[in-house]
Amino acid sequence: MPVYTDEGVVLRTTKLGEADRIITLLTRDHGKIRAVARGVRRTKSRFGARLEPFMRDQLQVARGRTLDVVSQAVCVGAYADVICRDYDAYLNANLIVETADKLVTSEEESVREQYRLLIAALAALSRAERPAWQIGQSYVLRSLHHAGWSPRLNACVVCGRRDNLQWFSVPLGGVVCSDDRTPDCHHLPQEEASLLFALLMGKWDECDEAIEDAERAGNNEATSHVEALVEEWAQFYLERPLRTAHLIHS
Ligand SMILES: [Zn+2]
Repeated sequence: MPVYTDEGVVLRTTKLGEADRIITLLTRDHGKIRAVARGVRRTKSRFGARLEPFMRDQLQVARGRTLDVVSQAVCVGAYADVICRDYDAYLNANLIVETADKLVTSEEESVREQYRLLIAALAALSRAERPAWQIGQSYVLRSLHHAGWSPRLNACVVCGRRDNLQWFSVPLGGVVCSDDRTPDCHHLPQEEASLLFALLMGKWDECDEAIEDAERAGNNEATSHVEALVEEWAQFYLERPLRTAHLIHS
C-alpha cells in the first residue's frame, strides 16, 4: 500500500466495529482526510490519546482501497490535555473544529491558511491567552473570511455610504445604513461594530478597547450580541447549523 506523511489536527472521531475508529483530520498538505485507526479503542492502543479531537500529530497514512489507514501518529501539539480541563475552552475548541470540518468540504483542497488558523486557535486556547469565547469567535470570523465570506463593516452594503451605519444584515453581508435597513437587520451600535472588527482582524488590543467602550456606554449585552451575530453569520454562510454554538449560548 502506498504511504504518505503529513501533519494534521483531529477534528472528530466515529466508532467503527469493535475497536476501531474513523478519524477525520484537517491536514496541512492533503486537506481534510478520513482514515481508520485500527485498535484505537483498546485500552492498550499503540496510539494512546494521540488520535483524540484537538490533537496535532505528525502522521503516516496508508492509502486503502476504500478508506485510508493511520499507520503512525506522533504528537506535535498536545492541545487536548489542557483544553479538556477547562469547560469554556473545551466548548470553544469544539466550535473551532466543527467550523473547520464544515468549512473544508473536499479532500485534497489546498487549505494551508485554514490549517494555520486552526492550529493557532487551538494553541491559543491551550495557553489560555485570551478569554476562550474571543479565540473561538475570532477563529470563526477569520476562517470564514479566508473562505471568502467576510462581513463588510466600513460602508453600507446597499448604497456605499460610510456614515450612519447602525444596522447589520447577515444575508446582505455587512453593515447597512438607516435608509436601507430591512426588517431582518440587527441593530449594531458602534462599540459592537468595533468588537466585531477587532475579532475579525484578531486585534486583541482593539477588542479590549471595544469592550471598555461598551461598558462605558452601559451596553452590557455587547459581547452576547456579537456572539449571536457571529453564530448567525457562520450558520448562514456554512449553510448548516453549528451544534456547539447552541451549547455555548445555553
Ligand atoms: Zn445605505
